[in-house]
Amino acid sequence: MTDRIREFLRTRTDDGPVLVVDLDVVRDNYNAFAKALPDTRVFYAVKANPAPEVLSLLASLGSCFDTASVAEIEMALAAGATADRISYGNTIKKERDIARAYQYGVRLFAVDCQAEVEKVARVAPGSKVFCRILCDGAGAEWPLSRKFGCEPQMAVDVLEHAHRLGLSAHGISFHVGSQQRDPKAWDKALASAAAIFRESADRGISLSMVNLGGGFPTKYLKKVPGVKTYGATIFQALRKHFGNRIPDTIIEPGRGMVGNAGVIETEVVLVSKKSETDKVRWVYLDIGKFGGLAETMDESIRYAIKTPRDGAPLEPCVLAGPTCDSADVMYEKEPYLLPVSLEIGDKLLIEGTGAYTATYSAVAFNGFPPLKTIHI
Ligand SMILES: *Cc1c(COP(=O)(O)O)cnc(C)c1O
Repeated sequence: MTDRIREFLRTRTDDGPVLVVDLDVVRDNYNAFAKALPDTRVFYAVKANPAPEVLSLLASLGSCFDTASVAEIEMALAAGATADRISYGNTIKKERDIARAYQYGVRLFAVDCQAEVEKVARVAPGSKVFCRILCDGAGAEWPLSRKFGCEPQMAVDVLEHAHRLGLSAHGISFHVGSQQRDPKAWDKALASAAAIFRESADRGISLSMVNLGGGFPTKYLKKVPGVKTYGATIFQALRKHFGNRIPDTIIEPGRGMVGNAGVIETEVVLVSKKSETDKVRWVYLDIGKFGGLAETMDESIRYAIKTPRDGAPLEPCVLAGPTCDSADVMYEKEPYLLPVSLEIGDKLLIEGTGAYTATYSAVAFNGFPPLKTIHI
């Protein structure tokens, strides 16, 4: 919570939930990443918060962009990024979308299998490709599963195939899982990357880049190490596995770039119990899973919530959204402690909501509009 956001909310008169993003915090985060990993290029993961205000600011600071679709490429271009600062980092692309990206001038593509390499070779000849390898996501609060990446051993073949088809076999990428609270998580993936570099060299292919992905956390309820610690720990791991021949590196922060820049203001619509003797109260807000808090799915992300009654005794509450879908319950398995004096009409502040909120909100499910967003 920054003074600027507090001041904005103090004078606000309109109704409904709102996300307020302080662009000064985004600027500070960008500078912190650039300082913590000085030899690494920053490719902001557009999906975390694709607002034009965020993209233009980052473009002006010199950031590059990790995109997942033609629409995201167009947004990065519109924000002022040149095509040489854009990576098409989704491993799942239609061939005609690769062709569109190529027409826009994009020359850097992610792949994780030979069929995807063949698409890129057909419509984006001569481009650079990097192969994504699987990562188990241990230690991450929002792991990315097995959807993306291949086994390290297979990556060597994928890159060799790219080389044979006239593409530039550029390097390796991985993602250690989003909201990764352990800076050592990069170590194992870098060991695999170094092994792939060696085996590719044996086959006469010289790789030059490691894409360290995202995963840098934002602070919710639990403490997280600072960006400096991540930078130092990752650099140590690079030294350990690559010795004096450290490759070019890039990072793709999403959550870590914008998460702590945003605060959502929401209103308590109803407080009730299911029986006279119920120990747990139900607190219904005017925002829920479909209004921007999708990452409460499986109760993965636990946001910090401020109330006007903080300091009063606490009581466990089930927290739910306003829609008529029974999946729209945010914290029930592990109820959330809120002040006993909380009342209908109270305004709550949900902190750390600058990433993966507005962009996830439904267009008009149940008649509720998409999350209103203000950038200051
Ligand atoms: C989503 C994503 C990111 C950003 O991850 P964060 O955990 O938010 O930093 C980076 N790279 C790729 C390829 C992604 O899909």
